[in-house]
Order: sequence, then C-alpha cells, then structure tokens
Amino acid sequence: MTMRIEYVNHGVANRFSDRIEINKHLKNYPQLLRPILRHEMQHTNKTFSGKDLRLDLAHNKIKNVDMLNFMIRHPKSLTHFLPLYWTRRSGFVLDFNLFFIWGMTFGIGWFVLFMLGMFT
Ligand SMILES: [Zn+2]
Repeated sequence: MTMRIEYVNHGVANRFSDRIEINKHLKNYPQLLRPILRHEMQHTNKTFSGKDLRLDLAHNKIKNVDMLNFMIRHPKSLTHFLPLYWTRRSGFVLDFNLFFIWGMTFGIGWFVLFMLGMFT
C-alpha cells in the first residue's frame, strides 16, 4: 500500500485514508519528521479504534522539548490539538481519538476538583 505524503501549512500531522498531511516546516526538523511519519503510518484507517487510541496515548519516541520548540516557532501547528477543524481541501475533519482524549482530560480534571471539594 502506498501512502501519499502531502505537505501543508497547519497542524503537525494527520492521517487520512489516502494520504498523510504533514506540516511542511517539519522538513527542517528531521529529528521530528521521521518519528512523526512513522507514527502516522502505524495508524489504521478506522475512524475510531482501540489500537489508534493506544498509539496516540503511548505517543512519543518524540522529544517533547523539540516538539514544543517547533510549536512555538510555528504556532499554526497548534491546530493539531483541535478535535474538529476545517480546511478547504478536506472540509470538516473530526478526530475521534482527540475527542476521546480531551474528554478524558476534562473528565479527570472535574473528578479531581470534585474530590478536592469533598475533602477541603
Ligand atoms: Zn496519532
């Protein structure tokens, strides 16, 4: 199976059924580009699956410092964290994995606040 790689101006990387979109500025960061591409290749084409979710939660042969550095220099890459966004090319893109991860993050946050409220 061949996967087309398309360089775009926003986000970090995203896998579609026929292509992988990746931020073109990452070309200047080969230490990030390679592991990110490898990661996207490992994803399935399913909208939502346990395998994909585990893959995203396990994230990272990628150095966070490098990633942070990249995001500060290219703030448009932050759209990567939006569970829903729109591009002219793809229309609305909904990322179920991210939806789930954000949901858990806020869920845990609320739970912690709730517990703190009970014991203070
Ligand atoms: Zn991923």
